[in-house]
Order: sequence, then structure tokens, then C-alpha cells
Amino acid sequence: MLDIRIERTNRPKELPGEDNPLVFGKIFTDHMFIMDYKDGKGWYDARIIPYQPISLEPSAMVFHYAQEMFEGLKAYKAKDGRILLFRPDMNAKRTNRTCKRLCMPEIPEDDFVQAIKELVNIDKAWIPTREGTSLYIRPFMIATSPFLGVRPSLTYMFMIILSPVGPYYPEGLNPVKIWIEDEYVRAVKGGIGEAKAGGNYVASLKAQVKAHEEGYSQVLWLDGVHRKYIEEVGAMNIFFKINGVVVTPELNGSILPGVTRDSVIRLCNEWGIKVEERKVSIDEISDAHKNGTLEEVFGTGTAAVISPVGHLRWEDDVMQIKDGGIGELSQRLYDNLTGIQLGEIPDIYNWTVEVR
Ligand SMILES: *Cc1c(COP(=O)(O)O)cnc(C)c1O
Repeated sequence: MLDIRIERTNRPKELPGEDNPLVFGKIFTDHMFIMDYKDGKGWYDARIIPYQPISLEPSAMVFHYAQEMFEGLKAYKAKDGRILLFRPDMNAKRTNRTCKRLCMPEIPEDDFVQAIKELVNIDKAWIPTREGTSLYIRPFMIATSPFLGVRPSLTYMFMIILSPVGPYYPEGLNPVKIWIEDEYVRAVKGGIGEAKAGGNYVASLKAQVKAHEEGYSQVLWLDGVHRKYIEEVGAMNIFFKINGVVVTPELNGSILPGVTRDSVIRLCNEWGIKVEERKVSIDEISDAHKNGTLEEVFGTGTAAVISPVGHLRWEDDVMQIKDGGIGELSQRLYDNLTGIQLGEIPDIYNWTVEVR
């Protein structure tokens, strides 16, 4: 159990109104969680304080060698008033896998979840209630030692901030257009692709800008060695439904193991839909599209939950997936996952955790 000191703000901000579109990640709540770490001492001074700037030396290691990790999950307000988190233990476990890879200190899983619960509880008035809205939770850790030598930092800060967010697609589920990148790569096996690290995102920006210029909203990455096998969408994992079978790239060391990915596989298994986790080549997808067996493509991630893909562009080949709309399975998964997250469908998997 963490002993969390609480200092409440005496200048609460105005809550965003019901008609605020809640653009992703722009508004932050009244409070934040921080704790410090020192080599030899461990984690100390866990506190919830008013949301505010932090002070760091310009030589702090995070600025120079990017020793940084983050997580992302959501709190939902159920119709009956309960506040629900979705599988926060998975984020705690992933935090520690990421920290191991990045030579950062681990956090006991219970402490991680406790810190989230206490912070969300203090700022619960900020959880929006309109359909499709939620409170996005961003835990992250940075290296703070003032030192320009290349080695793991000796001191760290772990923080959690909260942001009320609107529906990912304001008009409801909406098919996206995806650019399959054949020049740049996001991650390679042996690198940090399976860690949730800011460094993976800076590697992805160039292709993201290129895709946007071409009118595509996201990039689908291929493996860094052969530029042949499909990896993921950078902030989402990817699924294909080919001839009735659901296929998704296996976790190979360069793909981020998504909580939503895991939940989708579980639901499909329960529903008797065959799921294969294996290598998927771009040629296989292109062939399936040509012969009419590519039935659905969708991305999975905390932000959008399920993101149906309407178009895929691979070099000069623009593939429209069926009628370019929302597939039956995509819709069913979206309805069930959001139903469980909002406490409207019985949670037979014990995925939700109540904040109180
Ligand atoms: C966070 C993330 C995902 C999605 O993971 P979820 O746990 O489902 O939100 C997928 N890919 C990358 C690179 C990510 O950072």
C-alpha cells in the first residue's frame, strides 16, 4: 500500500461544459499524482497535488537519451453512477515489462492501480458522461538524473495525469484510411517496439506526416527486416478477417502487446470465431483482397477501442475493404467491449475494476 499525501487545489478549474468536444489530450483535471525514485532508496513521497508544471534540470537524462515510458487507459462513468477502470492490472504488468526493457525501476502492481484509483476518485467530477466520452489516464515515468553520460539514470519521477476525452469518432464508429509504409520502419526485433516508450513514437512521426499529406489518417507498419510482414498501426494493433478466420500478427518482440488486442482475441475465442496469431504478409492481404476473401480489417487500442479500416494503400494498390464501411464483427466487438467498459453488459471476465 502506498501512503499517498494529498494536497487539494484551492483554485479548482471550471469543468468543461456538456457541449465541449473534448479534443483528445488537451484539457487536464485539477490534480496529478507524483512519486520520486532514488537508487538505493526506492520509491518515496507519493503525493496527489494540484496539476502544475514540474521543475527539472536541463541536464535531466530524459531530455537527452529519451529514457521515458508511458501508459494509457480510461475511466468510465457507468449509467448507475459507478466509476469503472478497464483491466488496469494489464497496464501495471505492461509498465513493469516496459521498465525492465528501458532499465527503469518497476512499480508494484498494486501501488500502480492504487495511485490511479485515488487520483481518479479525487477528480471524479471530471469524468464526462456523454455517450462515447471517458477520462483518459496517462501514467508515465521519466529519468531525472542531471548527467550527460550514457547510462541508466539514478533518479526518476513517476506521474499520472488525467484528461477528459470525447468520442474518438464524433459521429460514432467510422472507417479509417490506412497507409502501408514501405520506406520507414517503427521498430525491429531486439529493439524497443514491444515497450510503451516515447522513443517509438518519435520514430513514427515522419511516416505519419507523409501519410497525412496523402490523405491517410494512420500508418500500418511492416517488419523492419523484410518489409513484408505486417506489424501494427503505431497506436493500434491490427486484425484481419479472411474467409471467416480472424488473423492478427503474433507478438514477435517488435509489436506492442495491446490490452484491447488481448480482449478482442478472448471475445472471439468465446464466440467460437477462430483466431490465428501468426505472421501475416502484405502479399497475403493483397491476394485475399483480390480474390474477395478479405472480409474485414480493424485496429484495436484504448483510444478508439475498435477502428474499422475502410481503405488500405499498399504502394499503388488502393484496397477498399468490402463496401468501405463497418464490418459486422468490428461492430459486434465495439458494442461488447464498450458495453462491458460502461457496465451495461455483464462483465463475466472480471475485466472492470470499480473506483470508490
Ligand atoms: C498503446 C499502444 C497500442 C494499443 O494498446 P492498448 O493497450 O490496446 O491501448 C498499440 N500499439 C502501440 C504502439 C501502442 O503504444
